[in-house]
Amino acid sequence: MTAHARKAKLLMELRAGGVGDRRVLAAIEKTPREKFVAPPFRDKAYDNVALPIGFHQTISQPQVVGLMTQALELTDRMKVLEVGTGSGYQTAVLSRLARRVYTIERHAELLREAEKRLAALRITNVTAKTGDGSLGWPEQAPFQRILVTAAAADIPPLLVGQLAVGGIMIVPIGADDPMQHLVRVRRTEQGSETEDLGPVKFVPLVGEPAAR
Ligand code: SAM
Repeated sequence: MTAHARKAKLLMELRAGGVGDRRVLAAIEKTPREKFVAPPFRDKAYDNVALPIGFHQTISQPQVVGLMTQALELTDRMKVLEVGTGSGYQTAVLSRLARRVYTIERHAELLREAEKRLAALRITNVTAKTGDGSLGWPEQAPFQRILVTAAAADIPPLLVGQLAVGGIMIVPIGADDPMQHLVRVRRTEQGSETEDLGPVKFVPLVGEPAAR
């Protein structure tokens, strides 16, 4: 099967799995996942699976990227914070749907590689830094949307504090728990409301326990 046919098959699988938002599907279609994985995994780039990217981390499963991106309800006027850049694949998808993406990765080497890939794709609306994303990016807050791509033990309060009123955060919860859940947090005038979007499996968010 050609790469084009494999991508078309993947997009059909995403649709069948609940990713119905055409803008999200178009952003995924435009983003060459094969450029975000190491050569030994390139033939699996359009399989609907997570793949290793080094440092015991993974590029997320396309299904999960699709569902999380869809759950963010993005528009092209929004400023987004992503915690956990990883390969930069999800960052690239977000960059096609938002005004600007701020992304934080704790592994400097992963971030360097991700930045190279984004530059090679001429993606210019991403600002990236190395650090503990559970602390957020206070200098750039508030964000209309926050996406956490690693599982936190609990909803990170510092990140809720950096969400604009009316804003949405998507975060996997249950770091040490085999049953993690994807949670949507909506910031309100009074505080926040949460909604369970279903079971997921993520690598843990590593950071300052006091910050969570
Ligand atoms: N969405 C990414 C992609 O498409 O390649 C995959 C993200 S991977 C599942 C989770 C990432 O979160 C890892 O790269 C890990 O190093 C990073 N991470 C974990 N804890 C972090 C923290 N406290 N701050 C920043 N990055 C963190």
